[in-house]
Amino acid sequence: MPEIHALRRDRLRAALATLDADAALITNLVNVRYLTGLASSNAALLVPAEGDAVLATDSRYALTARRECPDLELLVERMAETVLAGLAVERGARWVAFEDHEVTVERHAALEAAARAQLAPLGRAVEELRIVKDDGEIALIARACQITATAFDESIAEIRPGVTEREFAVVIERAMISAGADKLAFDTIVASGPHGAIPHHVPGDRPFEPGDLITIDCGAKYRGYHADMTRTVALGTPAQWQRDLYGLVAAAQRAGIEAAVPGEVLGDVDMAARDLIAAAGHVEHFGHGLGHGVGLDIHEAPMLGPGRPGKLADRVPITVEPGVYLPGRGGVRIEDTLVVRSGSSAPRDVLTMTRTSTPAELLVLD
Ligand code: ZN
Ligand code: ZN
Repeated sequence: MPEIHALRRDRLRAALATLDADAALITNLVNVRYLTGLASSNAALLVPAEGDAVLATDSRYALTARRECPDLELLVERMAETVLAGLAVERGARWVAFEDHEVTVERHAALEAAARAQLAPLGRAVEELRIVKDDGEIALIARACQITATAFDESIAEIRPGVTEREFAVVIERAMISAGADKLAFDTIVASGPHGAIPHHVPGDRPFEPGDLITIDCGAKYRGYHADMTRTVALGTPAQWQRDLYGLVAAAQRAGIEAAVPGEVLGDVDMAARDLIAAAGHVEHFGHGLGHGVGLDIHEAPMLGPGRPGKLADRVPITVEPGVYLPGRGGVRIEDTLVVRSGSSAPRDVLTMTRTSTPAELLVLD
């Protein structure tokens, strides 16, 4: 759909006008994809304030670029970004805005040598544009979430004593691919027993045991868009402290989801959940932010964390994922991906709906 990408480039031009730059040089590959539709490991895009955009990529992607982006002038060049910097000057640019948050010092020197123009920081202008999603993007995220939930539902029968974290990670990863995922959104986390205290535990050879809480954090990737979901389940009859911990995190997650409405301050959404955890005496056991935006990147703006300024808007997909981690004992995290909505029946749609486990209730497996 070339039109949607042309529309996005026009929105970038509007942002460029406020910077007083003559052109934007886009080198973040995810941003290039957002503005052109081309997924490539070597590409750059020049968007002049006036005139047509120019895409550069190497010969491996030339055919795809011609097919996906027929409306763009294409340069087939291995040194995509320096060639475009030079072209910007040739075409009269005096100030070229570049993505200073992702260009290395080494590449910056090469750009300066090629451009002879003044380089000005563009900042995260494209990332800002990416926060609010269009209907097509929301549909792809919803599909990725649905694949993830289906894979979870189809896999949990495999959670049995003796199965290792690594083995179960493969089971759920295969189920995501079978259900239609192009790829995995990130490395699956399976954290059992005491490992549950490590938020980003790498699955290892520990076998599941009766009495474990098991935290599974997984997501599918579908046509470039990500899903992110965490469930914590119990194997065998849980102890009272495990039930209490689960109940606390579930209540915090519900409070966070209910606070996620258009216009709410990001830090206040975090606080809605964090206050409950703090009141239960676990403030130091919840070290990460409440959630993050989801889209072409698994973690993207907006970030939901303590004191974060900025507000939620209509059509912003985010995660809500409180956790409490007790060193040496275990932990609980519950995460859903949802999209904040205005003008619909509910102020948000939860996209990661599992049949087998609702976040409100601890799922106990025999
Ligand atoms: Zn996650
Ligand atoms: Zn997440």
